[in-house]
Amino acid sequence: MPETHSRRRAALRALLQEAELEALLVTDLLNIRYLTGFTGSNAALLVHTGGEEHTVFCTDGRYTTQSAAEVPDLERILDRSSAQALAARASADAGRYRLSGFESQHVSVDQFDALKTQFGGVELRRAPGLVEDLRLTKDEQEIDALRQACAAADRALADLIEHGGLRPGRTELEVARDLENRMLEHGSTGRSFDSIVAAGANSAIPHHRPTSAVLAAGDLVKMDFGATADGYHSDMTRMVVLGKPAAWQQEIYDLVQRAQAAGCEAVLPGVDVADVDKAAREVIVAAGHGPEFAHGLGHGVGLEVHEAPSLAATGVGTLSAGMAVTVEPGVYLAGRGGVRIEDTLVVRDGFPELLTLSTKELVVV
Ligand code: ZN
Ligand code: ZN
Repeated sequence: MPETHSRRRAALRALLQEAELEALLVTDLLNIRYLTGFTGSNAALLVHTGGEEHTVFCTDGRYTTQSAAEVPDLERILDRSSAQALAARASADAGRYRLSGFESQHVSVDQFDALKTQFGGVELRRAPGLVEDLRLTKDEQEIDALRQACAAADRALADLIEHGGLRPGRTELEVARDLENRMLEHGSTGRSFDSIVAAGANSAIPHHRPTSAVLAAGDLVKMDFGATADGYHSDMTRMVVLGKPAAWQQEIYDLVQRAQAAGCEAVLPGVDVADVDKAAREVIVAAGHGPEFAHGLGHGVGLEVHEAPSLAATGVGTLSAGMAVTVEPGVYLAGRGGVRIEDTLVVRDGFPELLTLSTKELVVV
């Protein structure tokens, strides 16, 4: 919706003023999508603190029709070298542009050299992470897209289980494809990332890629997957056991479930991200499995499946209402099997909103 994008650009202008920049050249495509709604593969955006009438969008001729529909509310120019074209435009309007920021975390050294030439007399200053700062906190429209993506993943998993998609004799790859097809059937526009389906001892590999390994009776099966809606991602991990769980399987499952609940309870505005990690981790450490939980607790989710904030011991910052994060502790017993349980949640005042609603009991099939 144009008013959403216009509101986001106004918020960015406030950040630019704080940073004493007259303008920002936005070159990251996801940041451009966030600020304009454009979904093509080549674009640049020059946001000027002077207002919408001095803010210019550029893409190339392939996107003439698409950009007219997606970005009806800004001046549009067509040029294959979109960032350089906007730099040249700023240079030609030297009265208005004396100093412009650029997204230094997304620009290569070669691109920087080309931009510097095109910007001419305009002073360029590094301005990393400004749009990402805005993207940290989701508005209700974004949360709705996340909710839809999570719902598609929930329904796909329910279908898979109901239709006997998890059974001895199937391969990890077959299960992964089945799950992905079911997500598409339930409205996902694509998979959020390469799905993880890991059976038996493979479940002890945190980021196992599905193989032709065959599911066998007694296996723990770990599935970490996500759907997308309107560019937003979901991320969920659930466990199934093929037949009655062995005592050790149930034991690590219960432990991870308790740690996951403790992590989710800590997801509140004002809480330090490192303390959320700690809340879940200390449950696992107390049970003597600390070394077998060798990754961070979670991450932000939005236009990227992994984005800020990082919920880890090394993470910096505090949560605030509207952030969308995962909580995904795991215990991995090499050579035997592992358990991870992962939800996507939205930070709210009071208690978090859970977006991934599939049961967190160990599913026995
Ligand atoms: Zn995941
Ligand atoms: Zn994740």
